[in-house]
Amino acid sequence: MGRMKIIPDAKKKELQQILEISGENVKDCMQCGKCTAGCPASSSMDILPHQVIRLLQLGQLDKVANSQTIWSCASCFTCTTRCPRNIDLAKLMEAVRLTIIRSKGSSRLKADDVPGKIDPKMPQQAIVSGFRKYNK
Ligand code: SF4
Ligand code: SF4
Repeated sequence: MGRMKIIPDAKKKELQQILEISGENVKDCMQCGKCTAGCPASSSMDILPHQVIRLLQLGQLDKVANSQTIWSCASCFTCTTRCPRNIDLAKLMEAVRLTIIRSKGSSRLKADDVPGKIDPKMPQQAIVSGFRKYNK
């Protein structure tokens, strides 16, 4: 009996793309959970930030791609600043989103779709993060 393949061949390219876009090495994660403990959006996530990394380590991209988590992530970089292994999880989240949007062939949001009037109290970072989240 041959060895079991943990990462299906079809997903290897997408995984490689995510690692290339982010420039991060998911193997460095030691699953300490500090990213999750500090994440302000974790209550609205179905997979917690440290679990995202674990799934990427295991090549389980589908679970990550189909999760609410990647769209709930606010790109706040708290996880990035807390990681003792210097893993930029915020970048990884962005890379997963970009890979999904690109695989669908089009952006989810175009500049013209952004309402002319945005709540002036909204932080600029939220506007930029939101636009980046839906645009390739
Ligand atoms: S803080 Fe860093 S090392 Fe710890 S679980 Fe999160 S990504 Fe992994
Ligand atoms: S960047 Fe995303 S995953 Fe990281 S702490 Fe902020 S909301 Fe959570």
